Amino acid sequence: MKELIKVANLSFQYDEGDEWALQGINLSVYKGEWLAIVGHNGSGKSTLAKLLNGLLLPQHGSVVVEGFRTTEMDELWEIRRRVGVVFQNPDNQLVATTVRDDIAFGLENLGIEREEMKQRIQDSVSKVNMEGFLDHEPHRLSGGQKQRVAIAGILAMQPSIMILDEATSMLDPMGCKEVISTVERLNHEEGITLLSITHDLEEAIRADRIIVLNQGEIVKEGSPEEVFQNGEELIRLGLDLPFSIKLRQKLLEKGINISNSSLTQEELVNELWTLHLKM
Ligand code: ADP
Ligand code: MG
Repeated sequence: MKELIKVANLSFQYDEGDEWALQGINLSVYKGEWLAIVGHNGSGKSTLAKLLNGLLLPQHGSVVVEGFRTTEMDELWEIRRRVGVVFQNPDNQLVATTVRDDIAFGLENLGIEREEMKQRIQDSVSKVNMEGFLDHEPHRLSGGQKQRVAIAGILAMQPSIMILDEATSMLDPMGCKEVISTVERLNHEEGITLLSITHDLEEAIRADRIIVLNQGEIVKEGSPEEVFQNGEELIRLGLDLPFSIKLRQKLLEKGINISNSSLTQEELVNELWTLHLKM
């Protein structure tokens, strides 16, 4: 797979004398994948997101996005265009008085001409199922709708990768579901490369690959199956296990063995159903 982002030997501290917020980070993000980065509060997730789009610059090491380096002032613009970030608070990211103007805002900054702009706005709202809302006021939307508009604003800029930094953590369960199913569909059907930063393992379990951060270092990396193999370790790292993993553990205590590959609730239900039919 094509490497989209390469991070090498990266270390970052906010102020001299502070603890390192990130230390010795090496990672790659590949085109088309859904990578989840998990870790408890303060483990360095948001710092990493800001280093990936050049909002912060590392003291050591490098971040390269499709050949462009965050450390070079004249390459930074290219990186900002390629790496779109949806942040935690839906109320901080929408700036205009209508959904249409909000999406147009980023495009105006890119100097996109009028006809093309219209087309891109149309395409991006339809990809997040917000077609009917172009003339609505962003502040009147629900949290889930606001985040979907923020996602549309990023899609319209045609980035190489979309980063969601705890983008669902302030939403109610309904909004959370809307946003996750939207990005899941964008990844599966549109091939959008996705980096979701979350402490919600229920969300991470749906990704192709997971990286676990703890105190600024990568402590685990692999497929969801591999990462969730040792639940005890994740609990020690301050993470709450997904429901399906907890249930699998309880079933095992009763002598019912569920395969490691049934991670989502749907997969678990299917496997239990099959077992039930055999009994
Ligand atoms: P996470 O997103 O995983 O909760 P952060 O990246 O926000 O973690 O924080 C990593 C570490 O950096 C924490 O120890 C945090 O206190 C520190 N930190 C975060 N932002 C700042 C800042 N603006 N100034 C100083 N220290 C910060
Ligand atoms: Mg954070």
